[in-house]
Amino acid sequence: MSGVDKSVRVRFAPSPTGYLHIGSARTALFNVLFARANNGTFILRIEDTDRNRYVEESMEDIKESLSWLGLMWDEGPGVGGDVGPYIQSERLDIYKEHADRLVETGHAYYCFCTPDRLDELRKAQAAAGEPTGYDRRCRDLPEEEVRRLLDEGVPSVIRFKMPLEGATIVEDVLRGKIRFENRLLDDFVLMKSDGYPTYQLASVVDDHLMKISHVIRGDEWINSSPKHVLLYKAFGWEAPVMAHLPVILSQSGGKLSKRHGATQLREFREKGYLPEALVNFLALLGWTSPDGEEVLDFDQMVSSFSLERVGTSPAVFSYDKLDWLNGVHIRRLDPDEFSDRCIPFLQRDGLVSNPATSEEVAYVRKVAPLLQERVKLLSDISDMSGYFFTDEITHDPSLLVPRKMSKEETASVLRKSLEVLEGLDDFSESALETTLRSLVDSLGLGTRQVFMPIRVAVTGSTATPGLFETLHVIGKERVLERIRKAIQVLQEQ
Ligand code: GLU
Repeated sequence: MSGVDKSVRVRFAPSPTGYLHIGSARTALFNVLFARANNGTFILRIEDTDRNRYVEESMEDIKESLSWLGLMWDEGPGVGGDVGPYIQSERLDIYKEHADRLVETGHAYYCFCTPDRLDELRKAQAAAGEPTGYDRRCRDLPEEEVRRLLDEGVPSVIRFKMPLEGATIVEDVLRGKIRFENRLLDDFVLMKSDGYPTYQLASVVDDHLMKISHVIRGDEWINSSPKHVLLYKAFGWEAPVMAHLPVILSQSGGKLSKRHGATQLREFREKGYLPEALVNFLALLGWTSPDGEEVLDFDQMVSSFSLERVGTSPAVFSYDKLDWLNGVHIRRLDPDEFSDRCIPFLQRDGLVSNPATSEEVAYVRKVAPLLQERVKLLSDISDMSGYFFTDEITHDPSLLVPRKMSKEETASVLRKSLEVLEGLDDFSESALETTLRSLVDSLGLGTRQVFMPIRVAVTGSTATPGLFETLHVIGKERVLERIRKAIQVLQEQ
């Protein structure tokens, strides 16, 4: 399915009902990959016709999250395009016109039933153990009656006149033909009484007018798809190709929810996942690369992406796998790039000023690479590197004093170390190494017995990058000062 096909046009059509969900990000990614693999166009369309669920900040979050993931849209809000506007609330006239057309051609009808009546109907049906749904009371109202009620301004909706028999076949490229019995489908609403279209109508009209060639979306929309197929038919349009992506489940089998961990894209971002790692991880939720390779960059995914390799069985969301991939992508970054990506996290934790000075940037570029091997999430950086930035080191004697050594011995090792380091003009890694190793020899002690107290005195921690590079980066004056303080702590004990 690769190769040049100019007519591929796909869309990601989120409803702005909250922050972008990680599952929606997967849908967006598959659309982007499909578009890029086929020289197609990726469209962002905001489906904001459900005013009850509308959340103001949502659209900004969706745009920001997609941009952060590197999933830029070719047409849509902020970018424009020939078939806009791309926000559905700005297209109300278009939907009205199309709903009217369906009424005129006998495919839809006005319904004047009140919400109360529908509610009672539903309750009665439920109580009788019947399937709930509209009883089609207004389906065959005489035309004059409809006119009169409309003229009187009685609130109404427009409903689709569902065929009462037969079946509708949905052709899904991933799942094959799916058959839906028409009699089980409701006369669903197309236009609501508030003048807004329903998702069903708006989505079909827009997919057609925006010349969408492939609808790629989550499998929760499968049950809507026969309605869409019937709408295309009623309009006399050709339906796009449909692909419903497999459901994403948690490792315990249920729906992925907050209790499993982060679910909104912005949470992953704040925790310090790299967009490269998330994109890599999301691509594997339902798709496999031809050679089974799991660590992939965006271009590799594009060059091997096809719908043929998208499965239908549930995709399991493993946070462990995501963490692993994040580590892999972190280690693949160029050290300066890695450092720069750490800066926002160091700023958030007050270790670097905002904006960062050029000295701070240069310093972070010395510090962060020392930890690049061990960082799993960018947000780990502050905890792991705090002692490079702040001079407030907590000296815990139980860490300072190595096993089988006394406090006094440790203090004396530190005093000797201080002495040799004070005399050292060249504070380079190699000079530090030569000097401290010869100190170990002259004291007749083990390396650990000398290096550990120095390490803890300077960093407050027993787990740090290599001692010589750490001392070198922190610098002579700060190192000496910290050793002096540690000696004092031991003496005061
Ligand atoms: N607005 C729907 C959503 O929020 C779009 C479904 C579709 O892609 O057709 O997911």
